[in-house]
Amino acid sequence: MMEKIFRASILNPIDANTWRFFQDGALGVDQGIIMRMGDFTTMLSQIDADTEVEDLDGVIVPGFVDVHLHWVQHRVRGRFSGELLTWLREYIWPEEARYVDTDFARAAAAQFYGDVLRAGTVMGMSYSSPHAEATQIALTSMRGDWVIGNVLMAINAPRTLTDYSLHDPDALRAFMRQTDITHYALTPRFAPNLTAASLKALGQIAAESPCLIQTHLAESVAELQWVKELFPDAAHYTEVYDRAGLLTPRTILGHCIEMRDEEWRCLRARGSWVAHCPTSNEALGNRRMPLEQVRAYNIPFALASDIGGGPSHSMLHVMQRFLGVHREAGVSVVPQEALYRSTKAGAECMGRGSIGGDLTVGKRADFVLLPQKPAVDSIEHWFEECLSGNPTDLEQRPLGTWLSGARVA
Ligand SMILES: [Zn+2]
Repeated sequence: MMEKIFRASILNPIDANTWRFFQDGALGVDQGIIMRMGDFTTMLSQIDADTEVEDLDGVIVPGFVDVHLHWVQHRVRGRFSGELLTWLREYIWPEEARYVDTDFARAAAAQFYGDVLRAGTVMGMSYSSPHAEATQIALTSMRGDWVIGNVLMAINAPRTLTDYSLHDPDALRAFMRQTDITHYALTPRFAPNLTAASLKALGQIAAESPCLIQTHLAESVAELQWVKELFPDAAHYTEVYDRAGLLTPRTILGHCIEMRDEEWRCLRARGSWVAHCPTSNEALGNRRMPLEQVRAYNIPFALASDIGGGPSHSMLHVMQRFLGVHREAGVSVVPQEALYRSTKAGAECMGRGSIGGDLTVGKRADFVLLPQKPAVDSIEHWFEECLSGNPTDLEQRPLGTWLSGARVA
């Protein structure tokens, strides 16, 4: 293999307040890895005259990272709404029960990976259905870099799901031994679907394994009330997971909206991450995640679509509403943060900060080409223009997606 140079404008996230822009930029890729990145003219003096250069008309950004979604709800994303618990029981659980059918699961997985790559997402964390086979299908047909877990749910759900769940510790250990642990997440669905004893058994597995851990925390008021009834001796929802040993720096918690101060302090102490899902929260009528609190307690977080609660797998749409919902509440957020939380922070959340998430040398060449917008005065303005439109437009907005330097969409 020879190095290849992609010539285009380049926008690379640095942190929540900073990005770097090259008007005439270049990305040098060899064997799927970024070898150089910077200004094209400067690079020209450093490369061989016969190096292949491909001109791309647009702006290269890192591929997007979506740290919380349910691939088995992709087909019904945005189709249903309503209060969280009713939405789950009436629409989502019946849909997930269909994934017992492996042909159905195989077709849905192909559709899912094709759609997310088209929308620019190259990496993420996904909840599967409870079924072992559907989870294996999602793992073996993976396109991009995903971490996936079969949802564990033993109680308070239809038997069409609980009967297939591998929540028994020995069955789960046996299943985990067959999977590539770097792509597997221990996935208790949420506290109401497990007993304190089974959560504790999962905490034991989490301590034995290097795998990531994902679950939902404090998404809605009704859910909070239910947890209080099911776990009357817990001081708060966060404590239910903490007592089980499930809160670690490898833990990613979806939502975290209805939280008390002591719960934020607990997350801070454990080093756990929040998956912030603004479009899902809006769609299901939940409250806004208190970004001010997350900032005050210095809780690490990344953005996520949470399909099918979220109406779209487009991270451009998630970024649009991330800026929208917090600004509407009078909280200041900049476009730099939207990009950072959808790329580099997501990779760090997944423990892959040295592998991907941005365009620095040595990382995997996973990137997206966004359209140029003529006649905008600043890169901030350009980026916000790129985020405008409805979810369907935004799912189609990227001009192309590359994995390890190879075009895939
Ligand atoms: Zn979710």
